[in-house]
Amino acid sequence: MMTRGIHVGRLFGVEVVLDWSLLIIFALVTMSLGAGALPMWHPDWGAGVVWLTAVASAALFLVSVLLHELSHALTGRAFGISVPRITLFVFGGVAQMEDEPTGWKAEFWMALAGPLTSVALGAIFLGLGFVVAGPLPPVDVAPEMFVRSLSPLATILFWLGPLNFVLALFNMVPGFPLDGGRVLRALIWGATGDLTRATRMASNGGRLFAAILIATGFAMALGIQVPFFGSGLLGGLWLALIGWFLNNAAVMSYRQLLIRESLGDVTVERVMNIDVRSLPPGLPIKTFVDDHLLRSDQRAYPVVEAGRLLGLVSMRDVYKIPRADWEGHTIAEIMTPTEALVSIRPSASAYDAIHALNARALNQLPVVEDGIVKGMIRREDILRWLSIYGDGRLRAPIEA
Ligand SMILES: [Zn+2]
Repeated sequence: MMTRGIHVGRLFGVEVVLDWSLLIIFALVTMSLGAGALPMWHPDWGAGVVWLTAVASAALFLVSVLLHELSHALTGRAFGISVPRITLFVFGGVAQMEDEPTGWKAEFWMALAGPLTSVALGAIFLGLGFVVAGPLPPVDVAPEMFVRSLSPLATILFWLGPLNFVLALFNMVPGFPLDGGRVLRALIWGATGDLTRATRMASNGGRLFAAILIATGFAMALGIQVPFFGSGLLGGLWLALIGWFLNNAAVMSYRQLLIRESLGDVTVERVMNIDVRSLPPGLPIKTFVDDHLLRSDQRAYPVVEAGRLLGLVSMRDVYKIPRADWEGHTIAEIMTPTEALVSIRPSASAYDAIHALNARALNQLPVVEDGIVKGMIRREDILRWLSIYGDGRLRAPIEA
């Protein structure tokens, strides 16, 4: 779950988060333009113009990535898939879906929307570039002289246009979980009606592409000239890193599907922890800490009165009151009350439980029926079930 980072705000009801790693890409893009490309294209520009242009270009690049991700989210919404959050990070972005797409058509259009948006943006930026640059020079003018004559705005537009095309192209590589891999998965899913098989094939495509990137990256790092990418240690390691990331993402997405399939018809009731101690609301915080928190590995306790659940109190809550005052306050004052609590019914599926835990970054959920606590469910309870009864391919289960 990636909720760390800078919360920028909401766009069309979608929360936009910038991961800290994005500062690295922003710095890298600004540096490579400001210290490399721009002074080469425009030897007559002063340092001020060069760096302002570099910063503006990097910022507009991030805006392009944001629009790409936003188009996934809004297309998803049109198909009834809730996408509450977009996280932009070092390799682009992730639109965080609350549910998996319900059908292959939703998946197909949602995946395709991003690259289509990038192509459209590329065309718009290039078009605007030609408008801003004015009439093209006669054919006998050398290309570098034409580039040199461009204003900062025209330079930014001519840089952003092709870059958006590259973004579209990279994302259309047919390896899951890239957009192209999602398109491929949707098509196989539509043709065979078998989501598991479609995901396996698309994620194998992703791993193949990842292996090619890693091999190319190492070849470059060893000084071998690779067409289009060139050669060099830094560029090579960068490419290998992207490959490694893609490989992990492909493996994870497939595993997530296996987990979902294993858990689909397992109820929370079968998996939950029933060895749960409940506490009365009037219990002093000091007693709660000394007699319960410190003497058991139960991390959260239902607060119950006359059989009814009032709230949940955990280790995190005791810090709401200074330690010196623990004697005079009760757990009812620091608990999370039922109204603010996410709970789950015993008849719900264990996959829904894992989903609810991840979507809200929680450690446990009380299992409640008609206001009465039946047990608690944590990630490790579900993983324990998977390790005994789950798919043999899930030898090292991970977070779904
Ligand atoms: Zn995309």
